[in-house]
Amino acid sequence: MTNSSLSLATLPVATLGTPRIGPRRELKVALESFWAGKTDETALLATATELRAANWARQKALGVNIIPSNDFSLYDHVLDTSVMVGAIPKIYGWTSGKVPLATYFAMARGSTGGTHDETCAHGHAHGEQDAHGNGHGAPAQEMTKWFDTNYHYMVPEVFAGQTFALSSTKPVDEFREARALGHHTRPVLLGPVTFLKLAKAKDPNFDPLTLLPALLPVYVEVLRRLAACGADWVQMDEPCLVLDPDPAIQAAIRTAYGNIAYALPNLKIMLATYFGGLDANLATVQSLPIAGLHLDLVRAPEQLDAALAGIPRGLVLSLGVIDGRNVWRADLPALAARLRAVVARRGADHVQIAPSCSMLHVPIDLEQEKDLDADVKSWLAFSLQKMDELATLGAALAGNAAGVQDKLDASTKAAAARKTSPKVHNPEVAARTAAVTAGMKRRQSAFAARASVQHARFALPTFPTTTIGSFPQTPEVRQARSAHTKGALDDAAYEQFLREETARTVRWQEEIGLDVLVHGEFERNDMVQYFGEQLSGFVFTKHGWVQSYGSRYVRPPILFGDVSRPAAMTVTWWSYAQSLTLKPMKGMLTGPVTILNWSFVRDDVPRAAACHQIALAIRDEVQDLETAGAAMIQIDEAALREGLPLRRSDWQAYLDWAVECFRICSSGVADDTQIHTHMCYSEFNDIIDAIAAMDADVISIETSRSKMELLEAFRTYKYPNEIGPGVYDIHSPRVPDAGEMTELMTLARGRLADGQLWVNPDCGLKTRKWEEVRPALVNMVAAARALRSGV
Ligand code: GLN
Ligand code: ZN
Repeated sequence: MTNSSLSLATLPVATLGTPRIGPRRELKVALESFWAGKTDETALLATATELRAANWARQKALGVNIIPSNDFSLYDHVLDTSVMVGAIPKIYGWTSGKVPLATYFAMARGSTGGTHDETCAHGHAHGEQDAHGNGHGAPAQEMTKWFDTNYHYMVPEVFAGQTFALSSTKPVDEFREARALGHHTRPVLLGPVTFLKLAKAKDPNFDPLTLLPALLPVYVEVLRRLAACGADWVQMDEPCLVLDPDPAIQAAIRTAYGNIAYALPNLKIMLATYFGGLDANLATVQSLPIAGLHLDLVRAPEQLDAALAGIPRGLVLSLGVIDGRNVWRADLPALAARLRAVVARRGADHVQIAPSCSMLHVPIDLEQEKDLDADVKSWLAFSLQKMDELATLGAALAGNAAGVQDKLDASTKAAAARKTSPKVHNPEVAARTAAVTAGMKRRQSAFAARASVQHARFALPTFPTTTIGSFPQTPEVRQARSAHTKGALDDAAYEQFLREETARTVRWQEEIGLDVLVHGEFERNDMVQYFGEQLSGFVFTKHGWVQSYGSRYVRPPILFGDVSRPAAMTVTWWSYAQSLTLKPMKGMLTGPVTILNWSFVRDDVPRAAACHQIALAIRDEVQDLETAGAAMIQIDEAALREGLPLRRSDWQAYLDWAVECFRICSSGVADDTQIHTHMCYSEFNDIIDAIAAMDADVISIETSRSKMELLEAFRTYKYPNEIGPGVYDIHSPRVPDAGEMTELMTLARGRLADGQLWVNPDCGLKTRKWEEVRPALVNMVAAARALRSGV
């Protein structure tokens, strides 16, 4: 150990970034009241200022000594960056000078406001679907997922010949704001290379990376101003370095950081990489003129040795060892044991302790959870608890373990308890997953044979019509649910309300002549939560909100233990709905991959193993539905594509187990039971093999806005099973007429056989109003009839 490490009470401890939303969702409240015109800009900005101050103060109190600034955002830090560099499409009407808040929110939400009209449950936006203006004004910028998280950023839009200019001083302002409060912060900027890597140009032949020379002077200017105010370190986030290594990215990184160092030789750059390992990019990074490098050692612990061997002695290594993406408490003594040699080797003044990535992706404070199972709670750490862990680890590694011994002991105790708890480990579940046979993963007969018995059983017309599952979640439905949750509406009254809602919806579907009906999902709060609450192995928080996009936050379920299904989950509602009609009523389930991808998952077993357990539980439900008489069962896998790993080379392994899980849950039924699935994202080209391998009898997909072009993948693949390409864009309040829908179906018929095609909307109807849904579905049925009479 070096002398310096003995003299420190703690190693430097950083957080990289913190949640912005406030412990009680203060930012959401302030934003939504501002957007509604109830409060003014001053009030909104005052709330933002208070949130930042509280955030800095909390970190300081918890022992964090490298506190970030500019990690706050009113909406999204990528949007902040677009605004900072003046990458603002003309349509928003800005030309020069400071960007007004109205322009910022127009880019975020469209200039008519409120256009992020997401359909899918959860506040999860799906791909690029949400950013649509509704007719007037400027549409919002496109939105998409931030790497493999469920956070969505506003996609920067650039064009050939684009110029950049410093158009916001937010990083500098927030640095000064913190300084005035006594915090010397390390500002965070999204790095220029990742910014351009995430940017899109309308012209597909234009590569945004070529704009780097034009962009760099703006970054240099911001950094210069930060340095002038006293910043000595700046954190530059370049998560693009964990993607598949790309020579163009490597060259851009060298150019960017070479230029920055040349312009500002005294400013220290902490280059932050996260969500994976550097691998082949390490060689590029280790020769950069930077002062520090942050590594994600939770996702890619194996990269530490290569980094230690390769990086120059003088470089400060930021060890991302506390999981910034998940909610588990760390085993601090085990971590300290692992890191002691690293600290000794590099010297305490060349090591920092950090979370794997910004803590944006975890809930704020576990202490707010009063009703969590006490054991499970003792295994968890949200952002504030993680800060405490970081500080404890920092002290332990500085040779000050005695000062934090009680915390270290508590950590060991929690880790040991979790490892052996019967709440986590259920031998029956282990036995079942071990006993999965090949036969359980395939249907009894091949599709062609199944199709013929199914056709004989259902005798549906050509172009059968159906919907995806949910019907409008009206204010009345939401009010009844919330009254029931609060205890103001008793079980019987709530149940009666739901039955009436369901019955009305079933009757209405019959009246307008839909062929295959759904019950409407009125009893479901959310397509994952509904199942998580009934499965063992999950817990739910009251305040564990995480930003999904803008003011939309989600409370992901926490999957903590082996999953089993104590009782049937949907059979009663299905039976009731089927009792109201002679038409086929689809059983409606959420698939294992989607349940997994929208939850915080265990870190003590591989994702695939957890998914297999969920698949077996859903399989039981499928079989119970079949036993109760369900002839069609839909298993939604909305998030299957979202789960694709960041690196191409990891895709196949993921798809293999994801498909296997779908097959496990769906293959226990007889040939004449029809399995449906639904996926709401676009882009099937690169995963069409996997989609085909799922072997669902019918898949409904989102296609209306792509003018059926998405079916091209199915055509070239010669996809044999049945498909319902969405003909009604449910993301918009617009009611399509029958003609439009027949036109879309005509395009579909150009690509697939008539016998394969179903007619349905793009996705569930829960976010729409009945006034929109009624005429649209009437038109949809008319469109199907027109097609049939023309056949
Ligand atoms: N069955 C669900 C619904 O209709 C599917 C939603 C989704 O795919 N996100 O709401
Ligand atoms: Zn969908």
